[in-house]
Amino acid sequence: MERKMQAAVVEQFGKPLVLREWDIPSPGAGQILVKTEACGVCHTDLHAAHGDWPVKPTLPFIPGHEGIGLVAAVGSGVTNVKEGDRVGVPWLYSACGHCEYCLTAWETVCAQAQFGGYTKNGGFAEYILADPNYVAHVPTGLAANDAAPIICAGITTYKGIKETAAKPGEWIAVSGVGGLGHLAIQYAKVMGLHVCAVDIDEGKLAHARLLGADIVINAKVGDPAAAVKTATGGGAHGVLITAPSLAAFKQGVGMTRKRGTCVLVGLPPGEFPVPLFDVVANCITVRGSFVGTRRDMAEALAFAAEGRVKADIELQPLSSINRVLDRLQQGEVASRVVLEFASG
Ligand code: NAD
Ligand code: ZN
Ligand code: ZN
Repeated sequence: MERKMQAAVVEQFGKPLVLREWDIPSPGAGQILVKTEACGVCHTDLHAAHGDWPVKPTLPFIPGHEGIGLVAAVGSGVTNVKEGDRVGVPWLYSACGHCEYCLTAWETVCAQAQFGGYTKNGGFAEYILADPNYVAHVPTGLAANDAAPIICAGITTYKGIKETAAKPGEWIAVSGVGGLGHLAIQYAKVMGLHVCAVDIDEGKLAHARLLGADIVINAKVGDPAAAVKTATGGGAHGVLITAPSLAAFKQGVGMTRKRGTCVLVGLPPGEFPVPLFDVVANCITVRGSFVGTRRDMAEALAFAAEGRVKADIELQPLSSINRVLDRLQQGEVASRVVLEFASG
């Protein structure tokens, strides 16, 4: 095996990624090495490269947490994954396995959790080191390119919709219909919900309609919270905010029906004002949601393998990563870009 690989590396926050050689890691005990076939580009990679959040990754690092590939080598003691298996290396890279959160299937909030493409090097590279206990198992028949967006955008929205507790026949409003939101619409329809899609881009809204959104609302026109309330007869039972924009958060709380739940998923840096009287007097729940558990991962992937949810992808080579990130920043990516790696 060659000892160097190509990687796109964040060397400084706010600067373009550097395409360069990087040592291929070798799997130690309990680790595996994955040869990357595809890796989706999430808006989180932009936040990571900009150093947007309070807890910052250590420089230099390789982003990417929608990496899919074939297991190329296994370290000693690995029994649950074998060479040749197709796996995904997700945001939830690993967790401790024995704290109160891990024991109750809330490994996503484990204090020892590591994050792919953030605290651990990720999929913008030809190889990824992974923890076999936390990789996604890609079902047979689901292509690597199609699986990539599911392991972050898919699982996050699938879990987020569950966290709204909206029931079949009820309304969900999805604010932001980019990489996450275009999958949220599809999961919501499969889950029997009526969908109101909200974005600031007419192209995204037209796409949302094609994906099954019952109503679309342009948040740049008038008062989007009032528009959702009118369209849904009193507000959405569940609201899922994926937009990386603080304005969307206040609007999202305003879209929520009495006794409904507004789930916050987008992660723009900063804070947003919560209208206390409305939240209290209308018994509204405002709740954060962070990716999903390994069980959520298996469920989210199963919907994709059954063909009931399909990511709309644009394929690009790793070498185009800086152009892709610029377009993502400008809102010019239709749904999800997936970096495709040469096989063999
Ligand atoms: P994206 O850039 O693909 O999509 C964002 C969409 O939001 C775009 O369609 C954009 O037009 C729309 N938008 C922007 N401003 C808006 C507004 N004011 N109202 C409505 N829509 C608006 O991004 P993505 O990859 O879908 O990620 C979205 C956010 O979710 C990012 O902040 C990312 O970090 C976060 N994220 C969170 C989790 C989690 O576990 N909570 C997981 C993945 C991503
Ligand atoms: Zn992501
Ligand atoms: Zn734990």
